[in-house]
Amino acid sequence: MKKIRAILGYLIPYRSRVALNIVFNLLSVIFSLFSLTLLIPFLSILFNTQARITALMPLSLEYARTHSLGVWEIVKNNFNYYLSQLVDNQGSAYALVFIGVLVIITSLLKTGFKYLSLYHLTALRNGVVKDLRTKIYNKSVDLPLSYYSNERKGDIMSRMTSDVQIIESSIVSSLEMLFADPITIVVYMAGLLMMSPHLTLFVFILLPVSALIIGQLGKTLRKSALKGQQMMGMILSLLEETLGGLKIIKAFNSEDRIKHRFDEQNIRYTRVMNKIMRRQYLATPLSEFLGTVVVIIIMWYGGALVLGQKSVLRPEDFIGYLVVFSQIIHPAKSFSTAWYNVQKGLASVDRVNQILKANVAIAELPDARPISNFTDSIEFRNLSFSYTHEPVLKNINLKIPKGQTVALVGQSGAGKTTTADLLPRFFEATEGEILIDGIPIRQVRIKDLRNLMGIVTQEPILFNDTIFNNIAFGVENATYEEVRKSAEVANALEFIEANKDGFQANIGDRGTKLSGGQRQRLSIARAVLKNPPILILDEATSSLDVESERLVQDALSKLMKSRTSIVIAHRLSTVVNADLICVLHMGEIAEKGNHTELMAKKGLYYKLHSMQVFA
Ligand code: ADP
Ligand code: MG
Repeated sequence: MKKIRAILGYLIPYRSRVALNIVFNLLSVIFSLFSLTLLIPFLSILFNTQARITALMPLSLEYARTHSLGVWEIVKNNFNYYLSQLVDNQGSAYALVFIGVLVIITSLLKTGFKYLSLYHLTALRNGVVKDLRTKIYNKSVDLPLSYYSNERKGDIMSRMTSDVQIIESSIVSSLEMLFADPITIVVYMAGLLMMSPHLTLFVFILLPVSALIIGQLGKTLRKSALKGQQMMGMILSLLEETLGGLKIIKAFNSEDRIKHRFDEQNIRYTRVMNKIMRRQYLATPLSEFLGTVVVIIIMWYGGALVLGQKSVLRPEDFIGYLVVFSQIIHPAKSFSTAWYNVQKGLASVDRVNQILKANVAIAELPDARPISNFTDSIEFRNLSFSYTHEPVLKNINLKIPKGQTVALVGQSGAGKTTTADLLPRFFEATEGEILIDGIPIRQVRIKDLRNLMGIVTQEPILFNDTIFNNIAFGVENATYEEVRKSAEVANALEFIEANKDGFQANIGDRGTKLSGGQRQRLSIARAVLKNPPILILDEATSSLDVESERLVQDALSKLMKSRTSIVIAHRLSTVVNADLICVLHMGEIAEKGNHTELMAKKGLYYKLHSMQVFA
């Protein structure tokens, strides 16, 4: 029930649409009931059993109470009065035509109102799905990086695409039934009650029994649906991995292996889906069968009433009753099908909610301080960090005065990238803190903090867009001149202008149309344009060949001039000139000093250095 309420929550912005939908549905149902009950006088005239009504009754509650009649009976009486007049004055055939025209008019009203109700439902259906997509996308951008290191990317994608799709196709598309069918059933039931209270009491007993049987079956559906969606997540993960690693898959002749792996997953998914669909398909025949049983029981009971000694029911009333009743079977059936669909969709609601409710661990304090520039120093104070339970950084203490270049070196896995990631608060320190100009970064507005930093990573992160837009990514309203100037500083101008489209050239997915060095120079140009006081360079030249490294290194030197930089470098030759070199070893700062001091110490740095010189 809580989940249903969660879904209803999505409808709140559309409450006026919901209201209109319900009102029009109600009108439509009322007119459809009218058009059906007109069958009774039609039959009466046909069988010539139409009672001659010679007097009108006043249509007032007062009269109804004093004569202990229902309002319905007064209306029926008066209608029959006019009909008797018509039969007497114009003949039976004319009266039949009159009823026929009435049926056409009421049907027109019925279908017209139905369309109006669906018209408003459309905005609701599509709007709810749109809101859901926006919510998930926004949330996925807001979630901290740590969230993604614990989840499969494909699974998240499947929640965003396939689960949203299922919510749309199962729950949202059932809204029509969920809103309309109960109205239909209630109105028809009221109609039936007026037509024959006797029979209807009987129906009241039969319907809940069949509803119970159908409901029982829907329960297991949700569990299987959840399993199916988890498997869909696995499949998308595989697909994502495959597309990203196609080169290696081909190089290692692993096509068959990876196809096999996919096949296994795919078959498992199909099996679960078979199970789900079979159960779902059961809904229709089961409710149809139960419906038939109910109808037969009613025919038997109603027949007994008609044929009985006291003749409580006229045959044409009974036929009219059956026709109206037969109209309940359809909404009852479609309601139970809709209910099944919702059960299936709820599993997807769960999965989507897991993202929507995920904790944005790196939240800003409500009274976070704005900072506009960097004036003094960055300090890591007693900083420890762990991704899971293993500590990755242990008690790091380091002060970087403004304008200096600090290098972090050490073996792979020592914790260099982690240290650099903590500064822009991509991750939150487990213990200790980082201060910027003496203010803990936790107390600073995250946007302001990140505004102070430019980051160039080993794998340049570019988007499938033009060169211009990739460079201008972090800066609003950058002019062509500014972008061109940044490209020039980053040694990128030459290759950009060699291309006939220049800055408007598209660089492909993640920049695949460019070489590694070119990509790196674009990401440097991006940092140049942003012009941040603090620079973080994480192995910016490590994956480049010697020639591009020279170009990139030159670009970086220009970028680092008069800035505060944290440089992570694999190749020690690039950090020789740093003001301070920190050697990280297993998450701790093992040595600190400049190049000459550390070489003289003949410790870890000396060892790393001689290994590289030797290589
Ligand atoms: P470096 O940059 O010095 O090569 P990292 O800072 O990337 O090292 O990694 C330090 C340690 O943290 C490694 O042992 C690595 O396995 C672990 N690590 C890195 N990223 C994650 C992550 N997202 N989740 C869990 N562990 C991680
Ligand atoms: Mg690293």
